[in-house]
Amino acid sequence: MTALPSSLQQVAAERLPRYTSYPTAPNFTPAIDGAVTRDWLRTIDPKQSASLYFHVPYCRSLCWYCGCHTKIPADDTAIGRYIETLLAELDLVVSLLPPRVGITHLHWGGGTPTIIGPSAMRRLQAAITRDFRLDAGAEIAIEVDPRTLTAEMATTLGACGFNRASLGVQTFDPVVQRAIHRIQNAAVTEAAVRHLRDAGIRALNLDLIYGLPHQTVASCVATVERVLDFAPDRVAVFGYAHVPAMKPHQRHIDEAKLPDAAARFAQAEAIAEAFLTAGYRRIGLDHFAKPDDALARALDAGRLRRNFQGYTTDGADLLLGFGASAIGRLPQGYVQNTPRIAAYQEAVAAGRMATARGVHFTAEDRLRAVVIERLMCDLTVDLEAASAAWLPAYNFARERKRLAVMAADGLVEIEGARITVPAEMRPFVRRVAAVFDAAQAVGATHAPAV
Ligand code: SF4
Repeated sequence: MTALPSSLQQVAAERLPRYTSYPTAPNFTPAIDGAVTRDWLRTIDPKQSASLYFHVPYCRSLCWYCGCHTKIPADDTAIGRYIETLLAELDLVVSLLPPRVGITHLHWGGGTPTIIGPSAMRRLQAAITRDFRLDAGAEIAIEVDPRTLTAEMATTLGACGFNRASLGVQTFDPVVQRAIHRIQNAAVTEAAVRHLRDAGIRALNLDLIYGLPHQTVASCVATVERVLDFAPDRVAVFGYAHVPAMKPHQRHIDEAKLPDAAARFAQAEAIAEAFLTAGYRRIGLDHFAKPDDALARALDAGRLRRNFQGYTTDGADLLLGFGASAIGRLPQGYVQNTPRIAAYQEAVAAGRMATARGVHFTAEDRLRAVVIERLMCDLTVDLEAASAAWLPAYNFARERKRLAVMAADGLVEIEGARITVPAEMRPFVRRVAAVFDAAQAVGATHAPAV
């Protein structure tokens, strides 16, 4: 197994963005408000296809590692009110768009989106298919908490056309599960997988985490071995980001039991080795896919993309986000709804867009976004070709100087205008991507480099 090289220990401990967007969310500003979003939505080209994202910010219990926008509802009437607001927001957004925009991807995330229950899901999906034109091959995906998925909900998802589900597993180690307040034995996951497959939802993703308290290489490998029994099509493996100043519930996690950078690196590498040995392909920084999965095919064809859900085949540049904290990507820039549920509901009830912040793309942002996305997806990019396509004559002089220093450490290879992160440096690709981040975004709120 590969050990963390001593020359890279400092790099491994750096906190860096996951680069699911560029500019990254911490750089969004309140200058982009609901009025701006309204104006931008009115300019959408009727021929442009879109992706939709619906956020449900509620869970039945709080996992202490969680970094999502979610909370425990006071009671189920809170969920009912939220559903009505989602429907009202849908009406509001649709009134500003060309009729029945085409949809290639629809994703429900959270939180625990299945918490809304079967009848609300049928109602919302009916409204979505009434207002948008779902492409024949559209991916309709949802995040699932196996601990709360019922057979009835799985059947409803199948009947509503869902064709992909992401199940949160994280770890099967009971000691780690207790330390993160998420008790989920393998039988619970197995039942959820069975319910979903019985409902006709064949494409399953599983999410794992390393770097959790008490976690070891052995417990990570044991989790992978059990996960392989479920034969998931894709697996996402995230490094735990301990940011208790941002996420106060993480204070329940015993910091003394968290693995250090070298142990995290060993866990990530052991997990990767186990999936590769089992025949999975490595996708970007932290995903694995069966060789015949669409993600692997997109990688081979140079069409792999990165968005807020991680690595994706979603090629649509237009993303419409619904719900508290949801982020949209419009031709002019990113827009994010307020994460405060009461403020979100108040805005929508008043007929206002609930945007609290965002960013207006500059030409340079677009170029940097392309370079960062190609690095995160392909581990290689041709700077001259990217500049020629997005901002001719931009030469990245400052970045090239910094890359030359990194090349001396072996983090990157430079051949003319092409820069490549060598395979063995894949875990550090975010360090190389950060060179192209104009905000120099290295900070306490981000995830450790490994
Ligand atoms: S179920 Fe998922 S979203 Fe909810 S608290 Fe746990 S990790 Fe967070």
